[in-house]
Amino acid sequence: MLIRFARQLSIAMIIALLFTRFNVSSQSASQSKPNIIVFLVDDMGWQDTSVPFWNKPTDFNRRFHTPNMERLAREGVKFTNAYAMPVCTPTRVSLLTGVNAAHHRVTHWTSPDKNKNTDHEDPTVKAVDWNINGFSPVPRVEHTFHGTALPEILKQNGYYTVHSGKAHFGSTGTPGSDPLNVGFDVNIAGSSIGHPASYSGKANYDSPVNGKPHRNAVPGLETYHGTETFLSDAITIEALKAIEKPVSDKKPFFLYLAHYAVHVPLTADPRFLNRYLQAGLDSTEAKYAALVEGMDQSLGDVLKYLDDKKIADNTVVMFMSDNGGLSLSPARGGQAWTHNLPLKAGKGSVYEGGIREPMLVKWPGIVKAGSVADQYVIIEDFFPTILDMVGVKNAKTVQKIDGKTFLPILRNPAFKDGTRGLVWHHPNRWIAAEGPNIHYASAFRQGDWKLIYNYRQAKLELYNLRDDIGEAHDLATSNPAKVKELAALLTKQLKAWNAQWPVFKATGKPVPFPDEVAIK
Ligand code: CA
Repeated sequence: MLIRFARQLSIAMIIALLFTRFNVSSQSASQSKPNIIVFLVDDMGWQDTSVPFWNKPTDFNRRFHTPNMERLAREGVKFTNAYAMPVCTPTRVSLLTGVNAAHHRVTHWTSPDKNKNTDHEDPTVKAVDWNINGFSPVPRVEHTFHGTALPEILKQNGYYTVHSGKAHFGSTGTPGSDPLNVGFDVNIAGSSIGHPASYSGKANYDSPVNGKPHRNAVPGLETYHGTETFLSDAITIEALKAIEKPVSDKKPFFLYLAHYAVHVPLTADPRFLNRYLQAGLDSTEAKYAALVEGMDQSLGDVLKYLDDKKIADNTVVMFMSDNGGLSLSPARGGQAWTHNLPLKAGKGSVYEGGIREPMLVKWPGIVKAGSVADQYVIIEDFFPTILDMVGVKNAKTVQKIDGKTFLPILRNPAFKDGTRGLVWHHPNRWIAAEGPNIHYASAFRQGDWKLIYNYRQAKLELYNLRDDIGEAHDLATSNPAKVKELAALLTKQLKAWNAQWPVFKATGKPVPFPDEVAIK
């Protein structure tokens, strides 16, 4: 009797167990593709975080408080050699298309005004005819790069696609200025603008000029006008609301949460400001640090949402910034509110401070928690990597893809490839002021070696990043063979992409290609 009862009980348990398992597998079968979140920050430097991305913590790592980035680093992989372009739009177009800036020719930041060249006048070099109106999802739009955008492909493959925050893909009046035209199902607060007029809800995210709205007033957040809701918070709340639908429909989603933070203006975020004032930072530095922490709070809210909805295990979270921190502020006598030490220079420059970014990726079950990847990657790699993650093979694109999938690095953070060459091409003048190589420069990295080409002086510099991350010791004269080797590789790639090339004003002659430059 007792044995019979026990047998019946165990049969009942097996049935219950099978039922549970069946239920779980049917749930996961209905959404086997992972959700993808790209969390992109604007103008955030490599050191503007409490996560150390160098081989040791720095004073800046102690200054900033980013507990949610710390959590992401603990739960995912930290990339110590992740790169973007030196300014906004080139990075965003590369992310959207998988194409290098030298190739898509949106080499500089786009104005919200159509056909406006944002290049500053330079006494030595004439401006090139770059794609001043940015990216276009349709052909034959003047001064644009036409391509097939990543969200469009994801949408075609069953993804619900949400854009929240800063777009800055193209100028007003061109199709690329509206995220709804580049494959997003939902657009929250994205347009042609490159920074907000204000982060303050009380100010309606605006800063009127002569009683009229500012050109950079943030669109589409009227619900929060007149409230205490800081911009970083508003775009996060709305983004999470927007993904309610795919989550409840059990449909995979792609969320591109692109913060306006931490770009200027440095609106004081009252939630976090006092900590930094009490730590002795000046008012400008404290406002910047509070902007960083507000952005980090948004990351925390996203991670909590994924936990609450029990979808964290099937969601990839990718953290990235679009260019280096601002290290040169003419308004502050050349001193900005951040710098990127130990890296050299900042936003606008092809030195490490302008292009090396804090990058983190969490993907439970694939990425080993708390791992570190030293292999270099670059912004155009996001496109093929994300398609690889979601299992889209041979996607039909108008453009030829330059990026390379970093899925092998996610699977094995020790992955090494020292033969790959990375290219930066910035034939533009970013600001009126002078600064260390923030104008008219290209760069090339292979292994630990980096070549910098300053067009105006027709000068090549060589650095070994393993020994000299601060690019302080130019080895060009002591290692001309390496200069020659890298200059040939850079020239070959620029010519293959038919990259735009400036001319000297005085002679009307083109600036020599890197392989034509004498080492001096
Ligand atoms: Ca930027």
